[in-house]
Amino acid sequence: MTKSQIVFIARKIVEMFPNRFENRDPFKILISTILSQRTKDENTAVASENLFRRYPTVESLAKASPQELYDLIKPSGMYRQKAERIIKISKIILEKYNGKVPAKLDELLKLPGVGRKTANIVLYQGFLIPAIAVDTHVHRISNRIGFVITKTPEQTEQELSKVLPVELWGPINVSMVEFGKLICRPRNPKCEECPFTKGCKYYKSLKK
Ligand code: SF4
Repeated sequence: MTKSQIVFIARKIVEMFPNRFENRDPFKILISTILSQRTKDENTAVASENLFRRYPTVESLAKASPQELYDLIKPSGMYRQKAERIIKISKIILEKYNGKVPAKLDELLKLPGVGRKTANIVLYQGFLIPAIAVDTHVHRISNRIGFVITKTPEQTEQELSKVLPVELWGPINVSMVEFGKLICRPRNPKCEECPFTKGCKYYKSLKK
């Protein structure tokens, strides 16, 4: 696929599934993204709401004990591990960064449980800094459709950053996640409802 085809399709996906954020508080985005690991969005939403209703600030979370968080975040699963991480992260942000989430990839990656996907989500959604967050949807769809040929999300991030214009780096995550949940699903993608069959590598392979 040519670079201009990739940009055209990526732009269309962002138009079809626009990004809408209710808040851009970097701390809440960071903690919600930790809660979202290995669970569904609905569970993350319940756990985040429970948690922030009781502990709305970094200061309050830094003082909490993991056990106090268990019931609140249980809906998101892996709640013991997540509770430990959330409190450790809150303490580090309070003590090392004066209560403000750092707006730098390298610093975010030093926080416990924070990988490139989470860090890039925080950079874009919290600070509007262009960053490509590659989760399973972005990795799968990018390879399936033919944007990239890669083995790992890190490689996908690297390759996408070479072809996508910077203004699509941030929005592509949320848009591709929605596209991946509704149309280009992990199993049985709904190709008959997809406007990108003409350029799609996977679709062409089905027709051979
Ligand atoms: Fe996904 Fe099918 Fe669309 Fe290709 S044609 S992007 S496989 S839904």
